Amino acid sequence: MSQFDVVVIGAGPGGYIAAIRAAQLGFKTACIDAGVDKAGDAPALGGTCLNVGCIPSKALLQSSEHFHAAQHDFAEHGITVGDVKFDAAKMIERKDAIVTKLTGGIKFLFQKNKVTSLFGTASFVGKNGDFWQLEVDDAGEKTTVEGKHIIVATGSTPRPLPLVDIDNVNVLDNEGALNLTEVPAKLGVIGAGVIGLEMGSVWNRVGSEVTILEASPVFLAAADQQIAKEAFKYFTREQGLHIELGVKLNKITSGESKVSVEFVSAKGEAKTAEFDKLIVAIGRVPNTHGLNAEAVGLQKDDRGFIVVDGECRTNLPNVWAIGDVVRGPMLAHKASDEGVAVAERIAGQKPHLDFNTIPWVIYTDPEIAWVGKTEEQLKAEGVEYKKGTSGFAANGRAMGLGKAKGTVKILADAKTDRILGVHMIGPMVSELITEGVVGMEFSASSEDIARIVHAHPTLSEVVHEAALAVDKRALHG
Ligand SMILES: Cc1cc2nc3c(=O)[nH]c(=O)nc-3n(C[C@H](O)[C@H](O)[C@H](O)COP(=O)(O)OP(=O)(O)OC[C@H]3O[C@@H](n4cnc5c(N)ncnc54)[C@H](O)[C@@H]3O)c2cc1C
Repeated sequence: MSQFDVVVIGAGPGGYIAAIRAAQLGFKTACIDAGVDKAGDAPALGGTCLNVGCIPSKALLQSSEHFHAAQHDFAEHGITVGDVKFDAAKMIERKDAIVTKLTGGIKFLFQKNKVTSLFGTASFVGKNGDFWQLEVDDAGEKTTVEGKHIIVATGSTPRPLPLVDIDNVNVLDNEGALNLTEVPAKLGVIGAGVIGLEMGSVWNRVGSEVTILEASPVFLAAADQQIAKEAFKYFTREQGLHIELGVKLNKITSGESKVSVEFVSAKGEAKTAEFDKLIVAIGRVPNTHGLNAEAVGLQKDDRGFIVVDGECRTNLPNVWAIGDVVRGPMLAHKASDEGVAVAERIAGQKPHLDFNTIPWVIYTDPEIAWVGKTEEQLKAEGVEYKKGTSGFAANGRAMGLGKAKGTVKILADAKTDRILGVHMIGPMVSELITEGVVGMEFSASSEDIARIVHAHPTLSEVVHEAALAVDKRALHG
């Protein structure tokens, strides 16, 4: 039987980072993961993020953006490319190669940091003195592993839709949506959240007629509504995504080659839409399947999340939980940072993770990113604030890129000027948002950002202008 100081269950961005950090801190560490590659026959580290989430989706977004640009944007640069063709299977092949490279990279990092990597499904058995006992099941071959500290990082799975089963042939979850080798003529998406919008954008750009059906009457309810409204306008009017908000689904029938969706629109009209493929992207649920949490009394809440305190401690001594399987945003970087923090807490350090400065990004075109409070939240909380906005329309770098649209908005406390939120829609705002994150982490005022020299010509000048605008002294506004 193998004994470890720290055993991590799950090698997604939460688990693999926790394991590396624990090993760096001198702990004898193991990481157990049950993930397999696309073919289903070899272990694949990296969890949802690397295999069927963040990384593959961004690869497809880039490929589809290139195709769209070659068709629609190259001409104005004086570039003629003739008859542009698209090969979906080739795009998927490229995506798979990126996934393989990155998942293999984690294997290398484990070796480098002396993390013992174990394949199989881990479940709690009980306790042996100070050590928690886990059983690792690799296709029926069972071994026991003991750990003084256990970090549960078992992630999440797609939320099922009671009206229809996912078969990943006609009705797809994120895995199926990331593996289509032919462009569906008509694509339906249930859910206008991050995943629905990103997947809808990919297939829309390469020729699908995309309809997104969303139950909420509010588009991107978690985002600042000024930014969400601007995004809705671009997606629907300019890009031709058909987005219906406030719908109530009644029935979904998956036939041999078509999927029909019966729903009632926000105006109360009964409608039926027929699609070649349907993506279901209605959120994700915590994954505690196979953990045998009940055997040791590991507490879960009524939605299935493992209950943790602000420092990721569960109700059991020396059992921690991080990432998608616990409360908080289901984001890879949140999972990773919780992983680092837990490893450091085990080492007796006092790390701090501020949930208010975790950035959110949606990789549509234009991209959407934010950190901190929205205007709606500040109003609801009765916080007095001032705001500055600036657009990409007159930004020279954005014009050069052919992406001169979008807005940056900075919200600051009315009295102290401390930045409370930064909201962006525009080119590469996934990168620009870091300025807001760093500023907020250092308790910056909008004046601090306004007084920092920003390189010219860059997209970041729009952030600078927005900061100047908070004090009503924008120079280009
Ligand atoms: C399509 C899509 C796009 C996304 N894009 C982004 C993005 O751009 N940015 C972002 O921040 N987030 C994104 N996410 C979310 C991100 O993938 C998750 O927040 C992140 O993967 C959570 O990390 P985790 O380590 O908690 O869990 P996971 O990545 O889900 O990893 C959990 C691992 O645990 C393993 N496991 C589970 N149970 C057991 C067990 N009992 N024994 C052994 N192993 C087990 C699983 O096999 C898996 O490998 C996206 C998600 C999807 C689906």
